[in-house]
Amino acid sequence: MRTRLIAGNWKMNGSTALINDFSSAFADVTLPEAVDVVVIPPFPYLDAARQAFRNTPLQLGAQTLNPIDSGAHTGEVSGRMLKELEVAYVLVGHSERRELYRESDEQVFDRLLAALNVGLKPILCVGESLAERDAGQTMDVVLRQVGYAMARLDPEQRQQVVIAYEPVWAIGTGRTATPEQAQEVMAGIRAYQAGFNTALAEQLTLLYGGSMNAKNAAELLAQPDIDGGLVGGASLKTDDFYAICQSAG
Ligand code: 13P
Repeated sequence: MRTRLIAGNWKMNGSTALINDFSSAFADVTLPEAVDVVVIPPFPYLDAARQAFRNTPLQLGAQTLNPIDSGAHTGEVSGRMLKELEVAYVLVGHSERRELYRESDEQVFDRLLAALNVGLKPILCVGESLAERDAGQTMDVVLRQVGYAMARLDPEQRQQVVIAYEPVWAIGTGRTATPEQAQEVMAGIRAYQAGFNTALAEQLTLLYGGSMNAKNAAELLAQPDIDGGLVGGASLKTDDFYAICQSAG
């Protein structure tokens, strides 16, 4: 059985008040047993979230990390620091980081490796732009991003990685990939992993991200190769996020 995972990426949103809302809303809920639920707030809220989520099933994630452990890198945060705050997961290669902060495949890989080295579970984000999809390059782009990272890891490291397929054109646009479109690409990612090892491919947790919401989650999560979701906008509302978590059960 693969781990099912719903992760809420708050991006540069949220507040102490929202942390408190989540802590109250998730204190007495029963989430589907086999589903891990992760909230990924901005760095300044991690410690408050760590404390506020103690009585909830919510786990903590971070949005990025610097590849090195410490040093003269003003404004940056290392994996070791995240680990100290009981962060379990960390995003690497989110399309907003790739686009807005010019992170290359190589830089994404350095972050992935840094996460693995300190025992954080990386969620490697991949996905094509609209122009790439229209040009018929979806699979090439996605497998280049997946392959660049996966080919450089050893088998034990590969096992720790979660992959999130987030078509860039579906992020924050309200234009979700159809379940069939998502399934097709995600089956391709799993098949690529099977090239390393079929058992590994079977246990790889694959998330879909891009305008997932309380209404469309169940249909997406019913696809055979979609094991969970990476949720942006809809993860900022307790009710919506809770409904998505329930859909994953
Ligand atoms: P939206 O759910 O807002 O489209 O964002 C998806 C995303 O980028 C999650 O990482």
